[in-house]
Parts: sequence; structure tokens; C-alpha cells
Amino acid sequence: MQKVLITGAAGFLGSHLCDRFIKEGFHVIAMDNLITGDIKNIEHLFKLKQFEFYNHDVTKFVHVPGELDYILHFASPASPIDYLKIPIQTLKVGSLGTHNLLGLAKEKNARILIASTSEVYGDPQVHPQNEEYYGNVNTIGPRGVYDEAKRFQESITMAYHTYHGVETRIVRIFNTYGPRMRLNDGRVVPAFIGQALRGEDLTIFGDGMQTRSFCYVDDQVEGIYKLLLSDYVYPVNIGNPDEVTIKEFAEEIVRLTETDQKVIYKPLPVDDPLQRQPDITKAKEILNWEPKMGRSEGMKLTLEYFKGFSKEELQKSDHKDFSSYS
Ligand code: UDP
Repeated sequence: MQKVLITGAAGFLGSHLCDRFIKEGFHVIAMDNLITGDIKNIEHLFKLKQFEFYNHDVTKFVHVPGELDYILHFASPASPIDYLKIPIQTLKVGSLGTHNLLGLAKEKNARILIASTSEVYGDPQVHPQNEEYYGNVNTIGPRGVYDEAKRFQESITMAYHTYHGVETRIVRIFNTYGPRMRLNDGRVVPAFIGQALRGEDLTIFGDGMQTRSFCYVDDQVEGIYKLLLSDYVYPVNIGNPDEVTIKEFAEEIVRLTETDQKVIYKPLPVDDPLQRQPDITKAKEILNWEPKMGRSEGMKLTLEYFKGFSKEELQKSDHKDFSSYS
């Protein structure tokens, strides 16, 4: 049985990856320090003998006994609100954490895939974004702690590939949504759905003319799985090119939830990218991958998930108290 280590396993994408690798017949070692992850996302796997969980911070030395075939490094805060609350951890998990996991991959002769992001393109001046675009990132802005950690992560990953011959893969993940997103992590999908379900106005930041392109989680996981098993070492964009303005998206959520909520406007956060759309030519050609789930269908499934929350849960903020971490 092949063994895979998944970091950030209790998070949104990490937990879906755990499910997928279990389904594919792997032994899954799940690792998370639960700063932003939630054990509930993987609780259903605890009864399986081919699943184990380590509560560990990957910025500290990572030890896994025995052989290891694959590593997927998905540990990182991934929402702008989190970067503001835990900027140092965000920098550390992308840099020191990645270094530790590359060292582990080298030691175990394992193939490693690291989760990069469309944020490496910053507020892009090229549209749609292809993998050759170098990006337009503000190093010292509030998002810099995430964006620059992820850029460093790509550099050190390529260095381990060229210098040490480690088998590496780099996925650049564009906005992804679906069940198990954190209700109040500040990202737009749970934000709008939560607001609609609570009967609150939907908060559009800026004039709502900024764009995003939303990919359903199952499509994302399929793209990542195919990239891991491919022999392509350079970054690959995985996302859904179906671009929408945030204003249109808010209107879609109002229609979907059959609520009568109004939208209200708040200031645009600093360095919020004005447009984002993946060029997925590479993923199509190299991986024979493209997303299958349309936004309206995917949002219905996501809404069903959030409807499972009780009234009390919907009200309460899940922002954790990060004050004890530094
Ligand atoms: N956004 C918004 N209202 C909210 C939350 C987010 O208008 O309550 C906007 C945000 O400014 C950004 C877009 O939605 O332009 C996507 O934000 P998110 O935090 O989900 O992801 P990212 O900016 O990292 O793509």
C-alpha cells in the first residue's frame, strides 16, 4: 500500500485530499496543528486503519516513521483575514515548513507536491494569468506574508528539484470553494452564504467590479491528483476560468438562497486583486484536465453544506483566538 503524507489535512483542501487518497487505496498520514484547520473535517476517517493523524506544526522538524511515497504540502492559512491575524505563522509555514518537508522528501525519496497559489501573480497586469507571468506583488502589504512565502516556496521547491534531484510538483491554486470551507474565515463564498442564511446584508468590498473565477473543490482535487501523478515539474494553474464580478456573484447568491438580502458596500481591502482568471491551457494539454462543475450547481452543493449548520453555529464567529501564537 502506497503511503502519502498530507499537511494541512484538517483544512478545507487538505481534508478533501485525504478523502480522495483514501478512496484511491493509499495509506494516509494526515498532519495539522489545527490553528486554522478543524478536526471535524477528517473525523470520519479516524476509524480507518489506513488513516493516521499527527497533531504537529510543520515549521518544527517533521518526522514520519517508515517509508513514504508522496507528500502534499497544504498547510497554510489561506484567507486574507488569517494573514492579518497570524502573519508570522503564515510566513513560517510557507518557508520553514516547506523546507522541512522538502528535506523529508529527499530523505524518504518521496515525490512532493506543494500548494502554491494564484496570489503569486499579485494584482495581475496580465489577464488571464498564465504560468509564465511573473506577477505584481506588494512585498510589504498585508497579503505579502502569504504571497511572498508562496513565492519563496516555489523557489526552494525548484532548487530542491534541480540541486538535490527531488521529484517535485507545484500547483498554483485559484479560488476554490465547496463544503468544509470555514463559515467565517472571511472569504467571499462562506461570507455571502453565511450572511444570506443569517438574514444579513451581503457586504461587497469596493465597487464589486473586481473579478474572481471559482473552482469547485472536487475539480480542484482531481487536477491536483493528476498533477501529482504526472511527470511535469513546473508550476501548473488549476482553477476554473469562468470569471465573474463580485457584484454579479452577490446577486447569484441572493437568487440561490431565495432570500431578499440587499448588498452593502465596504472599502476594498489593501492590495485586493482587481481581476483574476486562470489560463488553464497547460493543465488541459499536460494533464488532460479541465473543470466539470458549473458555478450554479457547485454553489447549490455548497449551500446545502452550510444549511447543515444550526442557527447558533451560523451566528457564532469561528475566528479563533490567535493571540497565543507567535
Ligand atoms: N469580498 C467581498 N465581500 C466579502 C468578502 C470578500 O466583496 O464579504 C471580495 C474580496 O474583496 C475579493 C473577493 O471578494 O475581491 C474574493 O475574496 P476572497 O477573500 O474570497 O479571496 P481572494 O481575495 O483571496 O481571492
